[in-house]
Amino acid sequence: MSCIFCRIVAGELPAARVHEDADVLAFRDIHPQAPVHVLVVTKVHLASLHELEDLPLAGALLLGAAEVARKERLEQGWRLIANARTHGGQEVDHLHLHVLGGRPLGRMLAPAKSLPPPKSHTP
Ligand code: AMP
Repeated sequence: MSCIFCRIVAGELPAARVHEDADVLAFRDIHPQAPVHVLVVTKVHLASLHELEDLPLAGALLLGAAEVARKERLEQGWRLIANARTHGGQEVDHLHLHVLGGRPLGRMLAPAKSLPPPKSHTP
């Protein structure tokens, strides 16, 4: 098994576990970007949110994130981030959410200085 998050789920690699249920495991990010930075990962391997089609699993992932925020006492607010694929800046190809909080997190993204016009979408 080569996926690092699969190995954490299997207990083969250490992690600071925060929360677990039948579908998801939450543990602290090793390079925290905020006082609280917890990853919520699915126990089954999916590459990213782009591959997610299982509605109950999607619910479990979101509820896992909310449970982490409550356990971490983030009453003043928190942010959920899902990086997907290359343009999303995803580094670990195993579906996960970042729960961030513990300080004001500022704007969601720095404003882009010059952006190309938005692509029109044809489904
Ligand atoms: P992403 O860019 O969304 O794929 O983020 C992956 C995150 O996983 C990064 O914030 C890393 O710091 C974190 N990470 C990588 N390896 C580990 C690990 N062994 N334990 C905890 N967090 C990790």
